[in-house]
Amino acid sequence: MSGIYIHIPFCKKACHYCDFYFSTSLRNKGALVNSILSEIDQRVNYLSDKSIQTIYFGGGTPSLLSEKETFLILEKIYKLFRVSNDAEITMECNPDDLNTEKLKELKRQEITRLSVGLQSFNDEELIWMNRAHTAQESESSVKRAQDKGFENITIDLIYGSKFSNPTNWKSTLNKAISLNVPHISSYNLTIEDKTKLGHDLKNKKENAIDEEKSSELFLEMIDRLEKNDFVHYEISNFAKEGFFSQHNSNYWRGVHYLGLGPSAHSFDGESRQWNVANNSLYIKKINEQHGHYFEREVLTEKERFNEYVLTSLRTIWGIELDYLKKNFRSEFTEGFITQVSHFIKQETILKKDSTYTLTEKGKLLADKIASDLFA
Ligand code: SF4
Repeated sequence: MSGIYIHIPFCKKACHYCDFYFSTSLRNKGALVNSILSEIDQRVNYLSDKSIQTIYFGGGTPSLLSEKETFLILEKIYKLFRVSNDAEITMECNPDDLNTEKLKELKRQEITRLSVGLQSFNDEELIWMNRAHTAQESESSVKRAQDKGFENITIDLIYGSKFSNPTNWKSTLNKAISLNVPHISSYNLTIEDKTKLGHDLKNKKENAIDEEKSSELFLEMIDRLEKNDFVHYEISNFAKEGFFSQHNSNYWRGVHYLGLGPSAHSFDGESRQWNVANNSLYIKKINEQHGHYFEREVLTEKERFNEYVLTSLRTIWGIELDYLKKNFRSEFTEGFITQVSHFIKQETILKKDSTYTLTEKGKLLADKIASDLFA
């Protein structure tokens, strides 16, 4: 069982916090889709297991693809791989794209899951983020999608900006819950250097994120969502039973995936590779014979161990001692057992049978704890 990720690197506007790869010029969209089709042909043997359980259109803004463009990509994947009948097929969408026609089109394409980037219900904050939609558009897009029969919907929320405070965060969460979606992904705002916010921070036009406030908002979110039947199954992800993201859960479990399009990453169990993050160069190289459009890194045992620790610790499935023993040399596992005892005493990690998971207190320190447990 494997997954396929397709990166669609186009957006209408550049959100001020975003450091994903995208272009706001749609000029090359047709040529880029053709190049993705060629890449599928060229990399048809990348995955040792061609049974596909999940397909994920991410970006960028994949909802900018025309019906024909989405169709051509899916048609090629269906032709060259064995896509399971109950495959999860996700498309990330911006609320302003989800009109009735677009939703009908996504139904026709048999997209099974929508990931809607709402980010905030506060218009002032949406303008500050440079989002292309209003709060009203966000809400109505989700309702329209539900009316059109989409049940498996996830929404994205961002917290921790200068607009968030404990009072309005509670009402944001209430509003998110009232939308009746079965999945919510929520991220603490981070200010990356190469973004508009990063630039403003450097020039002292913005303040740094108040991490103490963010921690308070994070704990409030866990409490609120768990009381409303959401399972906190990964640090940034909450879902009702039966609606965990299969695609992302597979990433965290080390399932192999093929990443297509500029900047997309792939993983085959032994190595990672990532495509060039530049639309023109990607198109040029894909269409050259023997064009070199990606870089590849073979993972050492230590890197695989550290990745497993980092990703597993963030999930409800936690770190499995048996998995460590089976897959890594004994000195890594022994080092882990020694190190982890400190966190068990500190009550940031809970050990149950042979599984280690973060406690509530530990969730606030997830990345720091993981790095202390690295080989
Ligand atoms: S729409 Fe998404 S990918 Fe595009 S700039 Fe905004 S956050 Fe980034």
